[in-house]
Amino acid sequence: MTVQDCLQMFRQLRDVTFATVSKTGRPEARIIDIMLADGDGLYFCTARGKDFYEQLLRTGEAAVVGLTKDWQMLRLNGTVTKLDDQKYWIDRIFEENPSMNGVYPGDARYILEPFAIKYGEIECFDLGTTPIHRESFSLGGGDVTEKGYLITDGCIGCGTCADLCPQRAIDEGAPYSIRQENCLHCGLCFENCPVSAIVNREEC
Ligand code: SF4
Ligand code: SF4
Repeated sequence: MTVQDCLQMFRQLRDVTFATVSKTGRPEARIIDIMLADGDGLYFCTARGKDFYEQLLRTGEAAVVGLTKDWQMLRLNGTVTKLDDQKYWIDRIFEENPSMNGVYPGDARYILEPFAIKYGEIECFDLGTTPIHRESFSLGGGDVTEKGYLITDGCIGCGTCADLCPQRAIDEGAPYSIRQENCLHCGLCFENCPVSAIVNREEC
């Protein structure tokens, strides 16, 4: 899978959840249509009167998530950019998504502003396979966050973590090791290691 595959999957899902932060610091989420996708990113729009519009402009960030019918969860944390050529982008969005004419007929469409996400990180988390499979991608050069857990040299090889892991994602060795692509990030191994040899990757 590639980052372009993920972008096309977002477009095929079309209706996905966008989360932003309100003026009072509270999380707010709503369903937004992915109107276009190309090799660079995702495109969407919203009306200038909406709280969502204010939140996008103020924070410049959004978290986007969607789920396919095959239980593949797609997650994108990215930087949001307002696009300059409003008429071009809104007309193109309406051309490729004609159902928008029913919601914003005629020139009402120009209350909408176009946005793109071309920078950030994408994760595809496939819950439809056994073991689960996860993969992260950089979008436009964005950093990919290393999440989950790591087994350090403090491991004494007792095997407790491997026995407890619900996805059998821990391999025997010196030290034992976690197959990151199969890890749920549940923390069960971390909580039960008798010598605290398992650490959170974000705290390393
Ligand atoms: S529980 Fe801790 S000491 Fe035991 S095998 Fe796992 S990492 Fe190593
Ligand atoms: S965090 Fe959970 S899924 Fe991942 S290796 Fe540890 S026990 Fe297994």
